[in-house]
Amino acid sequence: MQAQKLVMACPVCASGDVYYTCTPNCCFNHVCGNCGTTFEPVTSATGRTISGVVAPDPMPEASDPTVACAKCEATAVYRTSEDKLVCAHCGAMLVLEFTKVAQG
Ligand SMILES: [Zn+2]
Ligand SMILES: [Zn+2]
Repeated sequence: MQAQKLVMACPVCASGDVYYTCTPNCCFNHVCGNCGTTFEPVTSATGRTISGVVAPDPMPEASDPTVACAKCEATAVYRTSEDKLVCAHCGAMLVLEFTKVAQG
């Protein structure tokens, strides 16, 4: 299955104008370009897995929304054609949550 780039809506204003401002070996701080809210996305595992997940082509850029897999901690979390989150590394189906939400 060909996965697509992760898209993330701001937890405050629901804008899709969201950028990743750090690096995976530091933190997952994101900022909303619309309202200035910062937040960190996390995932939790649904317990389901799918196999044969192919990473997006072209790959996401460094400032594209990024989150780590709740199971294997890979940052290879993408979106399926059904708009679900999946880890291309271990195949875990994930749900997105937001932490450290700070309104700008
Ligand atoms: Zn916002
Ligand atoms: Zn994983």
